[in-house]
Amino acid sequence: PDRIVIVGAGQAGLQAAVSLREVGHSGPITLIGDEPGLPYQRPPLSKAFLLGKIPASGLDLRSPDFLAAQRIDLAGADPALVLDRAGKTVRLASGRELAYDHLVLATGARRRELAASGSNLPGIHYLRSRADAEALKARLGGAERAVVVGAGFIGLEFAAVAADLGFACTVVEAAPVLLGRAVSRATADHVRAMHEARGTRFLFGEGVARFEAGADGRVAKAVTSSGDALEADLVLVGVGVIANDGLAAESGLATDGGIVVDRRLRTSDPDISAIGDCAVAPHPQSERPLRIESVQNAIDQGRHLARVLAGADEAYAALPWFWSDQGGIKLQIAGLIHGHDRTVLRGDPQSGRFSVFCYRGTRLLGVESVNRPADHMAARRFVGTSLAPVFAEASDESLDLKRFLP
Ligand code: FAD
Repeated sequence: PDRIVIVGAGQAGLQAAVSLREVGHSGPITLIGDEPGLPYQRPPLSKAFLLGKIPASGLDLRSPDFLAAQRIDLAGADPALVLDRAGKTVRLASGRELAYDHLVLATGARRRELAASGSNLPGIHYLRSRADAEALKARLGGAERAVVVGAGFIGLEFAAVAADLGFACTVVEAAPVLLGRAVSRATADHVRAMHEARGTRFLFGEGVARFEAGADGRVAKAVTSSGDALEADLVLVGVGVIANDGLAAESGLATDGGIVVDRRLRTSDPDISAIGDCAVAPHPQSERPLRIESVQNAIDQGRHLARVLAGADEAYAALPWFWSDQGGIKLQIAGLIHGHDRTVLRGDPQSGRFSVFCYRGTRLLGVESVNRPADHMAARRFVGTSLAPVFAEASDESLDLKRFLP
């Protein structure tokens, strides 16, 4: 393909553009974004940025000079509205029409909103975009009592920041445990104990039925499904995201909770690919196609797609990995632990440093590491290979994990 148009100027879209130049693509590359400014990284939004440790400009992934030198044409704050597959064009909100030979959809995901009444009151925040984080950060000075809806990664990272800043913080979670099915029970228990030791309170098996305003019109209370009224001058809602697959679906591409792609990241139209948070892709580690929300997945799929477009006939198979920083815990996960039926602990959770090896039968699905980065780095190399330690080996602390590396 000569003219490549990429819709979505986030982590995945930018990576695809950069990697296309690395593999020698010389034709025009246009990166279409719907947010102002340069492409930026999201992970610090719920961590260092909120704590004031890095400025907004420190979030940018690449400089304007870099984009110019790479001939990556950024059309920012101009969302793609219509995809005409027959004519192979994309129309932007400004009316600009772009012709493509190959189209990449890297549209990411958007926050899932709460339906509870009062959800639009001032003081109720979400955390997906730089604008969301700036609005939230601006409120951190004047508030004292925070309610977090959802004990997922975003909610917990925010709860850790709120505790650092001296807030009284309550986390309301519909499920009986935190982090849903994303981590093993051992890790979930450890994360919970850390938050509780820092003063955060959890209400499990609860939702928010409604929010109530105070005299100033701002949120003052979150009333739970069982009728508890939690006082709050700040609410953070982190109840998951929805894939941005509307443009794809409206043009007749296959979608199923995201844009469906094959092992080469092609959609049901061979001239269109999808990558990152918006894509549902098969993976050798999973029985079912997956939509993965992580920086690693966005970057690796962006790189992979560039190689495929340059002619490589390779199936996408990069090992998924993920991290989260919360209140002194660096949690790192290598592999896909969903469906594990037994675990082996290496290290003592009491010491604050341990790893959980998650097996299904004899197969090592993944490794969770808490403040054991060397275990994580090793696991990224042996999970999914025949070299991975078997159950008995994993539990033997005297065995150095380095012996399982390729
Ligand atoms: P995005 O980064 O969402 O980029 C997609 C872009 O496309 C967006 O700018 C979107 O607005 C734009 N777009 C959508 N539709 C259109 C359209 N029609 N026209 C033009 N543009 C459009 N992952 C980790 O691995 N570790 C972490 O610690 C971590 N922390 C996170 C913390 C926060 C607060 C958030 C929000 C996410 C975090 N993630 C983390 C997840 C990670 O940031 C995402 O998985 C990653 O950004 C996905 O990249 P993407 O390019 O697919 O999507």
